Amino acid sequence: MRDMPCVSTRGDGPNGRRVEGFLYKYREGEDVRIVCVCHGRFFTPAEFVKHGGGGDVAHSLRHIVVSPSPPGIVAVMEWEQ
Ligand SMILES: [Zn+2]
Repeated sequence: MRDMPCVSTRGDGPNGRRVEGFLYKYREGEDVRIVCVCHGRFFTPAEFVKHGGGGDVAHSLRHIVVSPSPPGIVAVMEWEQ
């Protein structure tokens, strides 16, 4: 739990809103989890997109902006795809 980059997403739907959170990167090969700043809840990337008002999306991580994006984080997120 060394790296906690900020992430944000914004739903496209009528209830879409911008949600910010932190990306929790576990060890290689483990799931990525995102904790939202508004509730402190843990979400999978797909759930985080829905939390922002988005619907079911095929590639949820593409709807999530990571800032900054260290190479290791990007590699994990691409692996998740
Ligand atoms: Zn929240």
